[in-house]
Amino acid sequence: MSERTVVAVVGAGITGLSLGYHLARAGVPHVVLEAEGRPGGVIRSDRVEGHLVEWGPQRTRLTIAMQQLVAELGLGPRVLTAPSGLPLYVYRAGRLREVPFSVGQFLRSDIVSFWAKLRAAAEPLTAPARDDESVADYFIRKLGRHVYENIAGPLYGGLYASDPAEMVVGLSLRHLLREVGVERSLLATLLRRGGAVDPPPACSFIDGMEELPRALYESDRANVVLEAPVLGLEASGRGWRVESESRTVEADRVILTTPARAAARLLAEAAPTAAAAIRRLHYNPLAVVHLRAHTELVGLGYQVSLAERLATRGVTFNDSLFDREGVYTAYLGGSRAPEVVGWSDTEIGTVAVREFQQVTAYEARPLWVEREAMPAWDASWAALIGISLPPGLRIAANWESRPGLPGRLAQAKRLAEECAREAGGHRPVSA
Ligand SMILES: Cc1cc2nc3c(=O)[nH]c(=O)nc-3n(C[C@H](O)[C@H](O)[C@H](O)COP(=O)(O)OP(=O)(O)OC[C@H]3O[C@@H](n4cnc5c(N)ncnc54)[C@H](O)[C@@H]3O)c2cc1C
Repeated sequence: MSERTVVAVVGAGITGLSLGYHLARAGVPHVVLEAEGRPGGVIRSDRVEGHLVEWGPQRTRLTIAMQQLVAELGLGPRVLTAPSGLPLYVYRAGRLREVPFSVGQFLRSDIVSFWAKLRAAAEPLTAPARDDESVADYFIRKLGRHVYENIAGPLYGGLYASDPAEMVVGLSLRHLLREVGVERSLLATLLRRGGAVDPPPACSFIDGMEELPRALYESDRANVVLEAPVLGLEASGRGWRVESESRTVEADRVILTTPARAAARLLAEAAPTAAAAIRRLHYNPLAVVHLRAHTELVGLGYQVSLAERLATRGVTFNDSLFDREGVYTAYLGGSRAPEVVGWSDTEIGTVAVREFQQVTAYEARPLWVEREAMPAWDASWAALIGISLPPGLRIAANWESRPGLPGRLAQAKRLAEECAREAGGHRPVSA
């Protein structure tokens, strides 16, 4: 026996759950099928020895859209906002150095030498970004090698645990440049915006990031099926038959929000060319180590200069971000040291502690070690150019458009609006 619906969403991470949330508000019949027994995907908050820890994102940005969603879900009183002005650091040549977020701070900072600053000042004279150059080449050409290795490279590569030398402007950075309005010059854009970068504050929730997907799940619980791994898709009439372990759904539209590997498996029959392309995408393996330490450190955390040879890519100071007493989260590995995830938990913990002490001079002990993977957004993304899917099948995923949480929420809302328009006669999506 199969049930009929208008939209079937595969995966109940933040993308699938927010699709469900907006479809419900628009009155579009839908079902969200999730393989695991818990909603949230990579957003997972936990307690280890009584300490709140995050396996996925440690925080998001309190953008206007996020504020609106949080208010609608009644999560307002649960929000924790990081203190304003917390510094971010880069570890270089034996100590932590503050990352400048304005032209004035850059001129005063010791993150690069006087000569490197002078070289960066010539940036407006350099040519605009080319789609076929690597992200590393772009930053070096624009800002010079030192600013690349110590500021632009660790901050941009760190978002994906990727090496900017393996990323291509047209496949990743171009989206960001467009979003922040950079045409030719980074510096000219910065000066037009008042000479400073001022993103919305970092935020989380009292019981961690997982409160957000939990609240989305509760708001659409009747339509979200857990422990229902989708096994296959098959064209059926003008729509699709979605086979999961526990039920079969006939839907006009299917939206895949799963990681690339799972999407490729599901598309193998329905769209074999697209499936083969998606299978070529690289993910960066990452070890996440929660550390316990008593320190005087104040800040968002640090990234490691690309000139340093550490297994650690960066550390988040959960302690000062959201008062998570004594908790620090270290990220090791990524594309520059992928072998790390093959080490034992003890080895990973030992290296994380040793490098934390090298960087901060504080002793720490590991609380827990986990392994994660992030879409690399590197040169392998060329595989996606020109792929197409049969009518009624869509992808909305962190490997297909912006991976950050604000980007995931925005795409889900847009797509739900589109489904509501196509389904016709339903209420508009208001949030
Ligand atoms: C370690 C880490 C740190 C991050 N840090 C940040 C950060 O600080 N800020 C930020 O904004 N973003 C961050 N991100 C990125 C952001 O968290 C993710 O891009 C986003 O949460 C992905 O959500 P999603 O719903 O698109 O995918 P996922 O969370 O991957 O959800 C996909 C869902 O599909 C399910 N699924 C898979 N196969 C099937 C199947 N066959 N049938 C049914 N269901 C299936 C999975 O079980 C999963 O629940 C981080 C990501 C990671 C991994």
